[in-house]
Amino acid sequence: MKKCSRCKNKAIYFRVNEGRYYCGKCFSKNIEDRVKRTIRKFNLVKDGDKIVVGLSGGKDSSNTLYILKKIFGHNPKIKIIAVTIDEGIKGYRDKTLKGCVEFCKRLGIEHHIISFEDSFHLTVDKIAKKSKDKGMCSFCGVFRRYLLNKKARELGANKIAVGHNLDDEAQSILMNVFKGDLLRLARFGAEPKLKEHSKFIPRIKPLIMIPEKESALYAIINNIPAYFDECPYAVFNPLRMETRDFLNKLEDRSPGIKYSIINSGEKIAKILRKNIKVGNIGTCENCGEPSSEKICKACKIIEEFL
Ligand SMILES: [Zn+2]
Ligand SMILES: [Zn+2]
Repeated sequence: MKKCSRCKNKAIYFRVNEGRYYCGKCFSKNIEDRVKRTIRKFNLVKDGDKIVVGLSGGKDSSNTLYILKKIFGHNPKIKIIAVTIDEGIKGYRDKTLKGCVEFCKRLGIEHHIISFEDSFHLTVDKIAKKSKDKGMCSFCGVFRRYLLNKKARELGANKIAVGHNLDDEAQSILMNVFKGDLLRLARFGAEPKLKEHSKFIPRIKPLIMIPEKESALYAIINNIPAYFDECPYAVFNPLRMETRDFLNKLEDRSPGIKYSIINSGEKIAKILRKNIKVGNIGTCENCGEPSSEKICKACKIIEEFL
């Protein structure tokens, strides 16, 4: 039996890049400490903040809510609210909604649900039927970001916390390099980098230094309801899937490389922000939300599919 490198209890996890064993309790504490360190390092949370957590029912967003509540739940100067977006995906979202409601009740967190159907008279299922295979994830992502931003603003929040983990972010950096998307690379980081529009609520990423599999383990140990199935439409984003597989192979051979990619991303972003001209984000002529073009992407999708 392997023993925890800290307390000598039975180990349940070995972190390869550190060469250390962890028991469940020490592992959880370590994850929470690392999230705290990220929050401190990037000054992600301040007194007076009202933070909306985008709660999807997946492990990462549930962990984000759980850990933020654990760290700041006793601070009366910080308010945490959860918002769940119902995309209208049968057999996927309907199962997770109930879990989100119960989880928020358990934590004593104010919870709001907004649906694509009520907001746009569209669901992902409806769009999928019409669009065949035209990248469902991008449609869905546009709507989700749009609604989360709008709802957070209506609730008077000044920050949105998202559950992006180390793997998500390392994948995004590589994909932006593949595509030469300098603007996205310039925006990279755990904290809001560019103030883009008065109606735009900045996003924070407290889990940016937590690997995917450690996030999954944390959810299991702490009895956090997490829906592990992938979205039925996720298969339509082949570049992300391939980047994920590639990164996992690389990590097996060179443990810790995902952290190096994040550190590189931060350095590159810093340099880019000094040299890149970030155009002002305007306002959609149709709906009044922030948009880089005359008509925002959400309005264009509605026009195409309604
Ligand atoms: Zn221990
Ligand atoms: Zn619009």
